[in-house]
Amino acid sequence: MNRLYDSLQIWFASTHSLSNSLKMTITAYGIVEDLTLTEKNYQKLTIAVNSPFKTELLKFNLWDNSLLREDNAGSAVEKGAGFKLEYHYKDQYLCLDKLTGMEIVNCPVCYSTLPALPDNVQHTDCLGCRTLPVEEHKTRINKPMTLISVKIKDYTYSTGYRLELQARDDPAPSYTVVFPNSPFYQLMKDLAVGVECHIIGWRSGKLINVIDFNTC
Ligand SMILES: [Zn+2]
Repeated sequence: MNRLYDSLQIWFASTHSLSNSLKMTITAYGIVEDLTLTEKNYQKLTIAVNSPFKTELLKFNLWDNSLLREDNAGSAVEKGAGFKLEYHYKDQYLCLDKLTGMEIVNCPVCYSTLPALPDNVQHTDCLGCRTLPVEEHKTRINKPMTLISVKIKDYTYSTGYRLELQARDDPAPSYTVVFPNSPFYQLMKDLAVGVECHIIGWRSGKLINVIDFNTC
């Protein structure tokens, strides 16, 4: 019995250290969206990372500021600055391992964030464009649109504002839904029908996936 217990202990110890050493590091390129010192005295760092035809906001809670030091990161960690980031998951949380300051560009087709090439040479090696079939490509939108209706609706996981928008050059209206976790959610309560909005995002059919939203 004791021998079984001992061997179980050894098995547990070896698998446990194995899973710790199998930390999967992910590399991405992105632009700092926000850096805020919270009341609990840790920094909340948000980095916008574009993958093919969409933008993800990666959020890190940093208790140790050494990763943010300019002499470590290579440039100042401030809104708009570009970085290569290395991170891993611990349970469902994102843990930042390293930041390296560099110039970031967008793929001209799918807007994935990529490191800039010397002499402004355009990327032709974007994984997003190469791996996604053409019929799954979306259309980039960057134009003023008029708000023609705004309604609060119940969706599966939360309520959201459903906006109907119309562009001058397109008689068919498009729509988008803004959920509480969106950076534009606070703007929604003051929106009035008829207002001009400048929309940057991706369109698939009538649905717009909004990346930036400003009222004119
Ligand atoms: Zn691409």
